[in-house]
Amino acid sequence: MQHIKNYINGQLLDPISKKYLDNFCPSTGKVYSYIPDSDAQDVEIAYQAANQAFIGWSNTPKEKRANYLIEISRLIEKHLDKLALAESIDNGKPLKLAKTIDIPRAADNFHFYGTGILHYASHAHSMENSAINYTLRQPIGVAGCISPWNLPLYLFSWKIAPALAAGCTVVAKPSEVTPMTAFLLSEICIEAGLPPGVLNIVHGLGNKVGEAIVSHPGIPLISFTGGTSTGKTIASIAAPMFKKLSLELGGKNPNIIFADCDYEKMLSSTMRSSFSNQGQICLCGSRIFIERSIYEKFKLDFISKTKALLVGNPIEDKTNIGAIVSKEHQQKILSYIELAKTEGGKIICGGKAKIVDGDFEGGYFIEPTIIEGLKYNCRSNQEEIFGPVVSITPFDSEEEALMMANSTIYGLAGIVWTENLTRAHRLANNLKAGIVWINCWLLRDLRTPFGGVKASGVGREGGFEGLDFFTEPKNVCIKF
Ligand code: NAD
Repeated sequence: MQHIKNYINGQLLDPISKKYLDNFCPSTGKVYSYIPDSDAQDVEIAYQAANQAFIGWSNTPKEKRANYLIEISRLIEKHLDKLALAESIDNGKPLKLAKTIDIPRAADNFHFYGTGILHYASHAHSMENSAINYTLRQPIGVAGCISPWNLPLYLFSWKIAPALAAGCTVVAKPSEVTPMTAFLLSEICIEAGLPPGVLNIVHGLGNKVGEAIVSHPGIPLISFTGGTSTGKTIASIAAPMFKKLSLELGGKNPNIIFADCDYEKMLSSTMRSSFSNQGQICLCGSRIFIERSIYEKFKLDFISKTKALLVGNPIEDKTNIGAIVSKEHQQKILSYIELAKTEGGKIICGGKAKIVDGDFEGGYFIEPTIIEGLKYNCRSNQEEIFGPVVSITPFDSEEEALMMANSTIYGLAGIVWTENLTRAHRLANNLKAGIVWINCWLLRDLRTPFGGVKASGVGREGGFEGLDFFTEPKNVCIKF
């Protein structure tokens, strides 16, 4: 069976301890490869390599840095089929999703920042006839990048690409639950001729490798995507060390549907925003609020479409819903369904683990689940479940919908369906979220700021904001 390796100083290495962890395939429940169980020693050599490479990389002309990133993007496209299959096996997501969303977006991330850095400029502030200020934007140093399992290569590259483009070198840790495409990215970086030490990938557990990165005194900035409670731990370590932090955390996003919406568009998009990637996208709209006059119609149509979703072998083209990423996560989702029942929720579709026959008997599948009758402020409607589970709730007025939408500790995204332009703008203004989609979902322009408010995070990724994060502004004032 394959042993995944760390990528340090341009080489593929065993962990110093020589210890490995099991890597499970979620659709079969079987171990299919091994992950380095790295620790602080591996992080230290990765840091040393990144630190040594920093002077050379940060002084490499941006055009040359751009070329490396664009070449990595090209190689991701060249290996798209292999990467997509690896992502599907490792994560449980449908292969067609990995092929059309995850891997193309990883290639786009490198291409976007490879070209973006060429257009990144800083400001000058003239003081009439007496002086001029100009702002340098200098790469900060060795960046720590830590990413989750739900969109493995997509989110990993969304951090690494702007860091490298800005001139930082990187020590990165993918999720131990889905390490495979990060490993394949190491091979691609070698193929692209990326200079040794510029990117280092250390595999292993969050509380060992992740914490060693976060607490390393030589790593002055941390870009993290993952759960809110992990974000809290990271902030508690990094803040007293005065590290620059970008935290992209959990969500419990509202999907607000008005009776005047374009119904068919809303319904097909709501299917995606509810169940894509088994509901394991931080931007999924897991709390659906429907104007009462169309509630019953919506409920029947939504149930009928959800019942038609095919849960099973992620590799097959006809599969809509693959496996949940891990046994632990499957159990967590199922426990929330049980909690919802005790809170007065009625399961009107799904609600159970799904047994898929044959090779997939041991896989971690869950039926797409719809719950109604929950109070907007009960735990199962307030806490992030992060699975193929949504609640539906009727509302009578815009004010009520907004109050329920804004009632959680989270504030990542909001979705609104209405043909009333004034109402659309009003809700966009009043929703407490970093991102609002009106009459669409997950439509992304990579130039836009991406991130959340409240417990959904601190800081923004995307566009020049990503490059701002990985650079430090320094003002220079010259008196005439
Ligand atoms: P997680 O917080 O468990 O793990 C994320 C990463 O952090 C992993 O690489 C993990 O090993 C590492 N980690 C864990 N403990 C650590 C520690 N003490 N110190 C340093 N690193 C540590 O999250 P997950 O379960 O992998 O991902 C799901 C969560 O991510 C959900 O809450 C989801 O909403 C969130 N998410 C947010 C966004 C966003 O952009 N806001 C995007 C995707 C996922």
